[in-house]
Amino acid sequence: MSAADRRAYRALRKRLRGLLGEIGVPRPWDLAEFCDRVARHRGRPIHLVPAELPPGAPDGAWLAGPTVDVIVYDADTTILRAEHIVCHELGHILLGHRGAGLGPELTPDVSPELLHRMGVLHRAGYADAQEQEAEVAASLIWKLAGRTLVAPRRALDPAQAEVVDRFAELLERDRDG
Ligand SMILES: [Zn+2]
Repeated sequence: MSAADRRAYRALRKRLRGLLGEIGVPRPWDLAEFCDRVARHRGRPIHLVPAELPPGAPDGAWLAGPTVDVIVYDADTTILRAEHIVCHELGHILLGHRGAGLGPELTPDVSPELLHRMGVLHRAGYADAQEQEAEVAASLIWKLAGRTLVAPRRALDPAQAEVVDRFAELLERDRDG
């Protein structure tokens, strides 16, 4: 890590600590309560939607509607991990990153079309730096909540993700052939 990176990291932690201090991280930890507090702070409701995600899809996404924010997360995992995914997406929200657009006609239920857009948008939509920032936010939330982190989620930049996907495809093809 360069000196400039360290400075940027410290500035990010300071910004997040300020935000989280205003919002208040519940102790004992309560994810629903924390989501409510973030929603009140933003003045917009946040809906959590567990979903069965197809293989290869990201394990969570934030979809920003005109008046509501929706966090879709992988339901097929441990509670700890699901909560970490949600905290990562809340990190994107807190840091003012851009959520994938949720059309005004869409209600927060999960259609295949939505999942497709999620996969495309989450990967292409965030710069690698924003992925790391959201991870820092998630770990800070957990630290303030007095919890321990689970394994970090897959956070790749689009170019890396493409290579990994191509590799996975080749492996599939080899197995089939
Ligand atoms: Zn992310």
